[in-house]
Amino acid sequence: MMRNDLSLLTPPWDAGLVQRLNLAQVGLGDWPAHPYTCANRGDGRHGDEGGDRGVLIATEQGWVCPHCTYAQAWAHAASGEIYPTAIVGQSGIEFFRPPQSVLLARLDGMLAAYRDLQARHATGAEVMVQVLEARRAQLLAPPAVFSLWVIYDRPSDFPTEVVARRFDLKTEQPTQDLLRAPTLVALRAQQPADATVLPRQKGDDPVIVESWLVETPP
Ligand SMILES: [Zn+2]
Repeated sequence: MMRNDLSLLTPPWDAGLVQRLNLAQVGLGDWPAHPYTCANRGDGRHGDEGGDRGVLIATEQGWVCPHCTYAQAWAHAASGEIYPTAIVGQSGIEFFRPPQSVLLARLDGMLAAYRDLQARHATGAEVMVQVLEARRAQLLAPPAVFSLWVIYDRPSDFPTEVVARRFDLKTEQPTQDLLRAPTLVALRAQQPADATVLPRQKGDDPVIVESWLVETPP
């Protein structure tokens, strides 16, 4: 992570920033970074949760230490930026663009450690557990599936109508789903919500007017 940017982020930190900072703290962020650690971490009372001694936890109010009362109320602005994914450990980058199985294994290890801290009422541990659980749900969410509706103006099988036929983008095959209307305007009134309209492409069949790209719920 770039540390030459001297502009600092002062709390309150929003939920998105708390998540990004905490994922970076435990090596599950988007770019190699040494975690922010507690100033008292050498006192023999600090644990290694998070992959280093005395790793701080980001909360809405700033950094807290799960092992003592230390708090720190700033982070470098660059900490909140988005970078390509890498897994970072104490020795540096352990995986660049890690596969999901590797991310989940590391995440589950961290989750177990911080749940243990939470059970002992350690400061900030609950926030870290929430961040890791949210990240886990994101990683396990099924990928979006898209459908493409292709709009035909008076095709040979419907010579007096404008029709939209849905294609399954996974199989690239037409489905039985069909919308019919006497005019293009009337057909567009039936357009699925949140459709992205794609203009006809060069080389499309002459009866093709446009296409609608729609995200299909899993
Ligand atoms: Zn501490």
